[in-house]
Amino acid sequence: MPRATLTVVVAAFNEEDALPVLQSRLAAVLDGMDLDAQVLYVDDGSRDRSWQVMQELAARDPRVQLLRLSRNFGKELALTAGLDRVDSDAAVVLDADGQDPPELIPQLVARWQAGFDVVYGTRTSRAGESWLKRTTASTFYRLMGRMSDTGIPADTGDFRLMSRRVLVALRGLRERQRFMKGLFAWVGYPQVAFPYERHPRLAGRSKFSYWRLWNFALEGITGFSTAPLRVATYAGLATALLAFAYGSWIIAKTLLWGDPVQGWPTTMAVILFLGGVQLMALGTIGEYLGRLYIEAKQRPLYLVQDWRPGDASPAPGARLPPAGTARPAGQE
Ligand code: UDP
Ligand code: MG
Repeated sequence: MPRATLTVVVAAFNEEDALPVLQSRLAAVLDGMDLDAQVLYVDDGSRDRSWQVMQELAARDPRVQLLRLSRNFGKELALTAGLDRVDSDAAVVLDADGQDPPELIPQLVARWQAGFDVVYGTRTSRAGESWLKRTTASTFYRLMGRMSDTGIPADTGDFRLMSRRVLVALRGLRERQRFMKGLFAWVGYPQVAFPYERHPRLAGRSKFSYWRLWNFALEGITGFSTAPLRVATYAGLATALLAFAYGSWIIAKTLLWGDPVQGWPTTMAVILFLGGVQLMALGTIGEYLGRLYIEAKQRPLYLVQDWRPGDASPAPGARLPPAGTARPAGQE
């Protein structure tokens, strides 16, 4: 029986200091495993020396594959680009900054070999992250869980292992609005959680400001739930009912006691309140419409500047269908 093959996909954006450390840890782990492993680094348009560092790593280790995007597309797309090029039995996704310890890969693989298609890491601790980040993250996951039909597991990062059929399925999901955790969950198949302790960064700083995280949360919610659109319906319905009751009261009052002109404050309050609610509803529709517009343009998800499959990779003629053409059985 041929040995199983595994590719570790690492998206990196300005990680020149972390990459060499990560690679030596990864190499040590992979050396000790009974499978043919490769490491695919995706340079997401780094502006530091990351690409040079990656080339040095590739020169030293034939297992290293390199992919360079034409600019910074963001982590989700960098991961997509990497996963599109994986041609092994399973892929592991790992952060370049060492927050997802590579030493855990053998345990992920063990669960995969036990029959699970997706083994996803859930964080038991978030060392080195502020209270605010931890609370906002957990609130987001709870909210997401209630709003979306796709059960997106809480406190789950991108650290995970995926089997080949999951990779194929992911290739069929070519939406531009990529909330990877959601897509991973949407695919289904036997999945199992893997609790682990998230380490602090090896070097450099987080690329995710709160503003970016907020936008990320919006992507997640709009990508996997239409509940916000329905909120407008129910808010409108509730307001209409209240307005009807209040209107009847005004009519009754006028009939009974006449109509002395009065009530400027109430009128203003109602106008301002309704104006606000309407603008919010319009804004919500706008969020979805904007995303629909982006999807409608059908631009490629990412552009590749450089692709180096590495010396140890199997002969060309990928066994997996190329991205965008794959349609898992039962779809369409
Ligand atoms: N990353 C990327 N493109 C980006 C931003 C980040 O490929 O535009 C990579 C980054 O190099 C790291 C991973 O995504 O490997 C996670 O990023 P970061 O550590 O900044 O996020 P955090 O762990 O703080 O959520
Ligand atoms: Mg990190």
